Amino acid sequence: MELIFLGTAAAEGWPGVFCTCEYCQKAKDSGGENIRTRSSMVIDKKILIDLTPDTYLNSLRHNIDLSKIKYLFITHSHQDHFYPQELHMRMEPFAHLPEDAILDIFGNSKVTKIIEERIDCEKAKIRLNTIHPFDKVECGEFSLLALPADHAPDEESLLYIIKIDNKTIFYGHDSGWYPERTWEKLKDFYLDVAIFDCTFGNNNQRQGHMGIMAIIEAKELLEKYGSINNKSICIATHFSHNGGLLYEELVEVLQPYGFKVAYDGMILNV
Ligand SMILES: [Zn+2]
Ligand SMILES: [Zn+2]
Ligand SMILES: [Zn+2]
Repeated sequence: MELIFLGTAAAEGWPGVFCTCEYCQKAKDSGGENIRTRSSMVIDKKILIDLTPDTYLNSLRHNIDLSKIKYLFITHSHQDHFYPQELHMRMEPFAHLPEDAILDIFGNSKVTKIIEERIDCEKAKIRLNTIHPFDKVECGEFSLLALPADHAPDEESLLYIIKIDNKTIFYGHDSGWYPERTWEKLKDFYLDVAIFDCTFGNNNQRQGHMGIMAIIEAKELLEKYGSINNKSICIATHFSHNGGLLYEELVEVLQPYGFKVAYDGMILNV
């Protein structure tokens, strides 16, 4: 199974779209892994998690044919995860797609309602699927379980456990400290890959998002529950300039605790 991290930043990107802070300037000066676009991930070039304002450009950069994506899972409706206008581009004359090129989109009721209101799904060859926390999706090649997050209180923000090729991935952002019922469910799984929300960086908050301290604690708890062990790949992502640590600094802090620091274009073969 191949995971490609298309973007690894929080809402504003890093450098932030309009930001003049010192951390955005540092990111611009150092380039490379410090240039971060809005977060999304593609699995086996077939399953896309989140459609962001940067997904199109990232698909060109990483040789991903978006017309071949069969399943799109949206975590929540925030603009860095959900850019519904782009779905217009599936319609004629913007796209010439074969008749059977159906895109199955899964998301919470806020997400699917927005798509329903704005997009002609039949013309765009979209099949909408509203899902709720603890819903399971079986798609033959993979299965997925949605879990609740402590994020975006006006909607059911979702985290995903995806089983594919006998491997299990936890897509855990935007999360905040997981709600109790999410912790309970996580105990049932062994995770080959666990992806954590490290938006706050050095800032020790855990409501809505997490930072370094919180993800270290979360990893320790998951170890205690047997959900991860030293063979699991733990990844920190969704970084904000307000976290204050550049890529190399993040690696210095997080590597000793067993985390990989995600960057745009990072490929993981599991
Ligand atoms: Zn976000
Ligand atoms: Zn900034
Ligand atoms: Zn969000």
